[in-house]
This record gives sequence, structure tokens and C-alpha cells, in this order.
Amino acid sequence: MPQLLLVEDDPAIRTALSRALTARGHGVRTEATGMAGLQAAVDDRPDLVVLDLGLPDVDGCVLLTMLRAVSDVPVIVATARDDERETVRALDAGADDYVVKPFAAEHLDARIRAVLRRGGPGEPAAALVVGGLSVDPRSREALLDGRVLDLTRLEFDLLAHLAARAGTVVSKKELLADVWHQPYGGADKTVDVHLSWLRRKLGESAASPRYVHSVRGVGVKLVPPP
Ligand code: CA
Repeated sequence: MPQLLLVEDDPAIRTALSRALTARGHGVRTEATGMAGLQAAVDDRPDLVVLDLGLPDVDGCVLLTMLRAVSDVPVIVATARDDERETVRALDAGADDYVVKPFAAEHLDARIRAVLRRGGPGEPAAALVVGGLSVDPRSREALLDGRVLDLTRLEFDLLAHLAARAGTVVSKKELLADVWHQPYGGADKTVDVHLSWLRRKLGESAASPRYVHSVRGVGVKLVPPP
């Protein structure tokens, strides 16, 4: 049973999440402050930490940096709002993934399982290779025919998600949930816009695709060019 450490100062959220995650088969320890959470992470060596970034005693990103200095434990941060800058700070500080409040326990559970499946940070994940495209989730570097692609964080996440599922059609709903963290859907247009930027960086277009193929009414798939 995976042992989770949940660091959350809001008692109502803490209780509800602890209950829901326990019901979903996790062992859950909770702490209400950052420093107590850090101590628990060191003492208990949990399999994963869910860290609220808005804590009363210490800034969540600072705490994450402190934690990273002593532990490789996977961390999912919970941000209070869809604050891109704060999210990027947390990812830079070593968070493995994030959820935006308010989120459903089942959504957090899905993220927890995905992060745990990836294995420990010590295990190098192989680069995903599709034709002349190579996408390395660990270094967050993508190469096309040996040339480094200059991608934004979202473009990289989008490409990595498609590359991990190369040859299969991925729906926009799935992309919104997994790349944009909008499990309840959002505007397909958002996906379309980023797909078109990604295509441009891959040197192709929707009209003459090489790697990124739209499947009308279904979604999009990444395939090696013929
Ligand atoms: Ca909080």
C-alpha cells in the first residue's frame, strides 16, 4: 500500500482528502504545517508527498527546495489557483506534478498513481523516440533530427504526452485533463492553438502534417512520418 504524506493547513480539506485517499487504498499521514511536513517526510520516508503550496509557516516552494535537499520523494503540489508562475516555480523547485484547487479526490488519486507508476526519480526514464523525434521527459528536452526544439512548458508537455502514446489517437478531452489539468473539460480551441504552435515548431502544418495528425471528431495522434 503506497504511503502518502499530505501537507495541508485547511482542516476541512485535510480531513476530506485523507478520508478519500484512504478509501482509495493509500496509507495517509497528514500534517498541517510545512515544517511538520518536512520532518514527517524525513522521518517516515513516504512514497509520495502531496504538498499544499499555501501554508501558514513557510512558502511552499521554499519548503519544496528544503525537501529536495534531503529527499527524492515524488511530490505533487496543490496550487490555490491556476497560477502559471507559481506552478512553474514549484516544478522548477522539484515538484513532479501539480493539481489546481479545487480538485476532486479522484483526480488527485489519478495523478498520484501516474507519478508512482513513473518510478522513482533515481530511475532514468528513457527518451521517447518517434521517427526523427526524441522526447526526453527527464531533461525536458526534445530533439527533431538531432536539433533541439525550443518549446514552451505546455508545448513540451503536449508533445511528451502524444509521444508516450505514439500511434494512438488522443482526445482533446484527455489532453485538457492531463496536459492542462482541466479534468472537467475546457475549450478545445486551447488545444487547437497549442497544437498549431507545436506543429509550426516541428516544421509542419495541419494541412500537410508529418508527425501530428488530426483525426476529425476524435482527436490527434503522433506518428513517424512515412
Ligand atoms: Ca492552504
